[in-house]
Amino acid sequence: CGIVGYLGHRDGLDVVLSGLRRLEYRGYDSAGIAVPSEGKIEWRKRAGKIGNLASEIDERPMPSGGVAIGHTRWATHGAPTDRNSHPHVAGRIAIVHNGIIENHDQLRADLGVEEYGSDTDSEVAAHLLRREVEGGKGLVDAMRAVVAVLEGAFTLVAIDAADPQRIVAARRNSPLVVGVGEGEYFVASDVAAFIEFTREAIELGQDQIVELTPAGVSITTFDGQPAQTNEFHVDWDLAA
Ligand code: GLU
Repeated sequence: CGIVGYLGHRDGLDVVLSGLRRLEYRGYDSAGIAVPSEGKIEWRKRAGKIGNLASEIDERPMPSGGVAIGHTRWATHGAPTDRNSHPHVAGRIAIVHNGIIENHDQLRADLGVEEYGSDTDSEVAAHLLRREVEGGKGLVDAMRAVVAVLEGAFTLVAIDAADPQRIVAARRNSPLVVGVGEGEYFVASDVAAFIEFTREAIELGQDQIVELTPAGVSITTFDGQPAQTNEFHVDWDLAA
């Protein structure tokens, strides 16, 4: 339902939580957040309001640096429970996903993973990415390989704890916008998530992948060509 990712000089946890709150108007049933920390993924997720996630973080504080991804879920596959909330984590990889992966059953069967952490269609994407990065691919190439086998609608955002200064996101039939600030970058399902920080935005086109690093933003097509992108300035007022 709602997606926010942040890479920059601010506290990623704060930025992503505030972005998720900005997306609350869209409706949701669960919320969660993931960060890379000391070679591992740290995450918290809870069914219910973002307030539940915030209390969970108060009770079990999590590390926070300049990179974080978060999600508000509107369940389509799997009940709205804690374990089905996003992010989904597989080894070094954490993902959040909007949309529906239509061929998730087939992909699950092909993967042969023994234990899944959820009943969602989304989780399969985390395991597929894990397999690619453990096979030696970088996160962008891993994403390219994974989107090639996914059917359906997705905005998919991933981080790799072994490569913590990078966020990679892809979209097909589901929205994804990038926010470009001064030495800080955002990905989101909706500009409302980041307009308190920047109003410079890039809308991703169909079947495109964006990579955020401290060096900037790079956007390519699923098949690796430079992408045509639509840059725009958000000039509407911030709702109170
Ligand atoms: N299909 C996914 C799920 O049920 C994502 C739903 C969403 O877009 O929030 O978990």
